[in-house]
Amino acid sequence: MLLNDTEYLPLSYLSQTAYCPRRVGLLLNERIWLESADTAKGRKEHESVHTQRIERRGSQVKLYEYSVYSDSLGVSGKCDLIEAQGDPSGCRIPAVDFPVTLYPVEYKHGKLREEQEYKIQLCAQAMCLEEMYHTHIPEGAVFYISSHRRQPVVLDEPLRQSVQETARQLRQIRDALTTPYAQYSAKCKRCSLLEYCMPSVKRSADSYCEQLAQEAKEAEAL
Ligand code: SF4
Repeated sequence: MLLNDTEYLPLSYLSQTAYCPRRVGLLLNERIWLESADTAKGRKEHESVHTQRIERRGSQVKLYEYSVYSDSLGVSGKCDLIEAQGDPSGCRIPAVDFPVTLYPVEYKHGKLREEQEYKIQLCAQAMCLEEMYHTHIPEGAVFYISSHRRQPVVLDEPLRQSVQETARQLRQIRDALTTPYAQYSAKCKRCSLLEYCMPSVKRSADSYCEQLAQEAKEAEAL
């Protein structure tokens, strides 16, 4: 995907798409947002890192709230933190006057857990940086704020393909300006849009319609 006049979509919505395509349709196309205790807590915890700044200690530099974009993925957004380490074989970035290797870190609220959508978001950030600065980033990390634990993530080829596939899906949802149907799953219980989305009701309505169609077919056959 290469952008010309097309809008960049929010990079963080890759994570939302991977979580649930309907959720991103509601957020992006229908502009629905419902605050929950979980989202409020997450926002509060994020406030400590969401201040754009640079911290230096010798050849180690920490860049907070760093803007990134990718024409090939069609997204733009911010990295919570990029750790830049001085390295003669590294790349050049505007904020630092020596070559560096880059290590993105995505902050998430709550305790350490395995979430594929967080890895997709982190890998997308790395792919943006690679495209911007012609470098390679083999690893990043997700930092869980409540437990103060860092989970390293290897940015391998399957994960990169998942990022590309998710970016295509996000673009399709945006271009079609539609909201995918609800698919009830365990994720719905943690979704802040549950009340609005009502996936169980939708599923019941679908089953009821299917049942009516089946009865009509059977009546025709008599
Ligand atoms: S309630 Fe379930 S189906 Fe609806 S948006 Fe949330 S995760 Fe998706």
